[in-house]
Amino acid sequence: MSFSSEQKLQQPIEYLKGVGPLRAELLKKELGIFTFGDLLEYYPFRHIDRTRINTIDSLLPDMDFVQLAGTLVSSEVVGQRAGKRLLVTFKDRTGTIELAWFQGINWVQKLLQPGYSYLVYGRISFFNGRPQLVHPEIEKIEPEQPLEKKFLEPVYATTEKLKSKGLGGRALGRLTQTLLAQLKDSDLPEPLPLDELKPLPLLERSRALRQIHFPETPQLYQQALQRLKFEELFISQLRMQLVRMQRHRFSEGVVFEKVGDRFNELYKHHLSFELTGAQKRVIKEIRADTAKGKQMNRLLQGDVGSGKTIVAVLTMLLAIDNGYQTCLMAPTEILCQQHYASVKGLLEKVGVSVGLLTGSIKTKERKQLLAQLADGSLSLVIGTHALIEETVAFKKLGLVIIDEQHRFGVAQRAQLWKKSSPPPHMLVMTATPIPRTLAMTAYGDLDYSIIDELPPGRQPIKTVHRFEKDRAKVMDFIKQEIELGRQIYIIYPLIEESAKLDYENLMKGYEEVKAFFPEPRYWISMVHGRQPAEQKEINMKRFVEGDTQIMVATTVIEVGVNVPNASVMVIESAEKFGLSQLHQLRGRVGRGTEKSYCVLMTGPKLGADARERMRIMTHTGNGFEIAEKDLMLRGPGEIEGTRQSGALAFKLASLVADRSLLEVAREKAAQLLEADPGLDQASHVSLKEFMKIRKGALSWSKIS
Ligand code: ADP
Ligand code: MG
Repeated sequence: MSFSSEQKLQQPIEYLKGVGPLRAELLKKELGIFTFGDLLEYYPFRHIDRTRINTIDSLLPDMDFVQLAGTLVSSEVVGQRAGKRLLVTFKDRTGTIELAWFQGINWVQKLLQPGYSYLVYGRISFFNGRPQLVHPEIEKIEPEQPLEKKFLEPVYATTEKLKSKGLGGRALGRLTQTLLAQLKDSDLPEPLPLDELKPLPLLERSRALRQIHFPETPQLYQQALQRLKFEELFISQLRMQLVRMQRHRFSEGVVFEKVGDRFNELYKHHLSFELTGAQKRVIKEIRADTAKGKQMNRLLQGDVGSGKTIVAVLTMLLAIDNGYQTCLMAPTEILCQQHYASVKGLLEKVGVSVGLLTGSIKTKERKQLLAQLADGSLSLVIGTHALIEETVAFKKLGLVIIDEQHRFGVAQRAQLWKKSSPPPHMLVMTATPIPRTLAMTAYGDLDYSIIDELPPGRQPIKTVHRFEKDRAKVMDFIKQEIELGRQIYIIYPLIEESAKLDYENLMKGYEEVKAFFPEPRYWISMVHGRQPAEQKEINMKRFVEGDTQIMVATTVIEVGVNVPNASVMVIESAEKFGLSQLHQLRGRVGRGTEKSYCVLMTGPKLGADARERMRIMTHTGNGFEIAEKDLMLRGPGEIEGTRQSGALAFKLASLVADRSLLEVAREKAAQLLEADPGLDQASHVSLKEFMKIRKGALSWSKIS
């Protein structure tokens, strides 16, 4: 079998009969259809079933679309002006039915001739208890014409412009029909080793492609759909796993041979808690991975508050004990400062000094820091994306840790690991969990660790949904908590496009809170994106140190901030936030042993989606579960942590609906690669070819 026959599918779309330059231009622009192959993979979103003829006496209200064959008895126009309509009596051997038109009356009337036979197709409605078809499609039956269509008729998504050039949702099907008629089965060879994939019920590719457009039965359509979805998922899993395997086999990486003194000392003498089983397991995984002489590329998933930071710190000590430098990159200045303060406090105890590099570090300090990194006298630096600037050079960088990864692009990360050769190990920590299906597809090329256990003693955060009318009560509650010595967050949304309005809301909110909690009895910090960095830092610090009881902030506070004494999180206009963001914000409380609360404030009128989000938030605290729901509500493209990736660009498969198929595809891909890592066996030649041809969807490049 050869895939040179794919060449046929590479032909420009204008060469197809019925297309021509004008339509071709539109097909390209509007639908991205450039070639025969593109048209073939432009799948219908539904079908019209005209394979059966209904009888009039069997019509029921829940039948939706029906097709009738019979004779036109009579037609008359009744009513005046707006009420004017054409009523047609139509009969078959079982009864009569009324057809009605409110528009195009003259045109339809000309078409219809009493006494002749017609095929009628339309949506059934009941009027005064009698069945009726309004504006049905109607077609004269020629003698000898077979009545039932042999195929379901496809309907495609189209656009106004295409419609105006005669390419409506059903007309597109005629092009596909022309194309399929030209293609021989040998033009659509089979890339998948179907024998090895047994007992999966997979149609052959050529059959599947025909049946997905023009299925003979709804069952065959389903089979075609499953086959092509499987193909998408299987090919993408093969790619991901190949990238990962190649990295495991061929990449070069630094070796962390031993667990050294500093690691051991911190672990044994300076931790104020016992690590959870999950934390220990992850450290073991990292340890094994960094000792192999291959570059580690690992994604660390853990729920908010699961204790990723200490895992990062111990991993950095592993690097340092082995004579390497390391850096921790975080997305915001505030987060860096927090990490800096806590990591520095901890590592001082084992004699490791820590540097901080952010945009606001003064030139003189910065120079000194850069010199220390370059000559190797400083082994650990924490910073924002300032770390990736070219002026930052390391003597011997062995490990890069990226916290709250979704803020950084792939290219930015790549900048970091170019700073040393062999490249440093990479550990990417997510801010909130990513649904499993997303992790498998968007990050399937990375190795994967998961902290699926919270530190002991955490109480669930009590989450409630409140409205404006409850505000006084909410304020009273806050007051009580402050009297108990706790601290409070009040968060306002900040949405880029309407920044000005949001900013005004924040200020208004701040004034209100201040009126309710007057100085000097209460002190309030405010932090938002428009403040100069220094101001932000001071305000933040006062709250962290317990100097102020209330923090009024925008979502700049969102990621990573750790104030264990804070026990209440109030989120204003909570309906404006996505699920994972709400969960991330809520995770700012409940970090100590005190009972904690999250109050979601919303306006009185909520859309169905927003109501569902509030319901989920008040019912579960499990980030993995919330991530799954988020995926279902919003679809993969919208989920934070989703990398711009061809991996998600499935035409048919859905990460929500086809989860189990994805599992199967992943397993089968792993089995296949285990048996034949180079895809060299004769039975895999077509597969390899196919993957090369379709390389466009996903590049083979290393990521992270
Ligand atoms: P995240 O995973 O969200 O980054 P952090 O690393 O900030 O979470 O940890 C949250 C809090 O839990 C911190 O106060 C940290 O000191 C504490 N913590 C981490 N691990 C443990 C543990 N094993 N036992 C008790 N507390 C822990
Ligand atoms: Mg964190």
